[in-house]
Amino acid sequence: MQVAPGMTRAHKRRMGTAAGFSIGAAAVIMAFGIGSLILVVGLVLSLTGIGALIGIPMVLGGLAVMLIGGPIAFAIHRRDEGAKWWGPCPYCGLELWATGVGFDCPACAQRIVNRGGWFMTVAASQPPPS
Ligand SMILES: [Zn+2]
Repeated sequence: MQVAPGMTRAHKRRMGTAAGFSIGAAAVIMAFGIGSLILVVGLVLSLTGIGALIGIPMVLGGLAVMLIGGPIAFAIHRRDEGAKWWGPCPYCGLELWATGVGFDCPACAQRIVNRGGWFMTVAASQPPPS
């Protein structure tokens, strides 16, 4: 692809990797916390004899929350924190994140088109007249 006027090359970058990881870790820890809490309550109920009727399903439920909930919480979080396009505004050159296929520059308020990592002016995004 040739660089035409009104086009700037954007790069894929991870947005807030450190913060993103800690949020993901927190989601996993929370799932483990809730899971182990259910598990412990289930175990205590199991010790009372008749309580085992609901205690054992609770222990299994707690284990399921830990083994399934943790990775799911982490996966959902990772999906939302994907790499984003980072590049200069084709109008004013301000470095910015792409916030969609079409978005407005926060500095010059001009419409930017993001086409697969190329930031374009609206005019540049139009197909050339044939
Ligand atoms: Zn701009």
